[in-house]
Amino acid sequence: MAFVSIAFSLLSACNDEDGKPEPTPQVTLSSELANDLRHLREEEKLARDVYWFSYQKYGQQIFGNIYESEQRHMDYVLDLLKTYSIEDPAAGLGFGEFKNPEFRDLYIKLTGISAHSIDSALYVGATIEDLDISDLNRFMETTEAADLLALYTKLKCASGNHMRSFSKQLKNNNISYVPQFLSNEEYESILSGSNGHCD
Ligand code: MN
Ligand code: MN
Repeated sequence: MAFVSIAFSLLSACNDEDGKPEPTPQVTLSSELANDLRHLREEEKLARDVYWFSYQKYGQQIFGNIYESEQRHMDYVLDLLKTYSIEDPAAGLGFGEFKNPEFRDLYIKLTGISAHSIDSALYVGATIEDLDISDLNRFMETTEAADLLALYTKLKCASGNHMRSFSKQLKNNNISYVPQFLSNEEYESILSGSNGHCD
């Protein structure tokens, strides 16, 4: 259903007999896939902005480190938006600002919870990763495009690392995270995985 339609310029068929570089193919994404990328760009921003809030409030390194990781993820998504000439929904937006009202509401809600205590902020962290992974699973089923799948795989790998970090710290504080988006089975399998270098 979802597919990438690739419109190669006719010129690219004429190989570079005269030494000219081949023109870059013009590539377009289906609107469904473009929407997934836009959604993902703001979802990574939500994570970045909420962790920045928690880092400012509590000064815990876990939030600072994962904040930096989310900034990289935002950059990776932006690269693909540019590749496909898709408008960046996060262009010009400051911390806590979102184009999608769903993310605006979530930012207010999640920072409100994070403000209660470090444990609440860690729980919010696990919640964000839970949501991210479940959305990435959905996006991965929607496409066979190699560049999109590579991005989703990288972000999911990193989210697994983040999820393990938040859950471990919560566990140290005698709190167990209960998944809200993923199945218990998938959550447990993520926890039992080991951290990998994803990006
Ligand atoms: Mn991320
Ligand atoms: Mn994350």
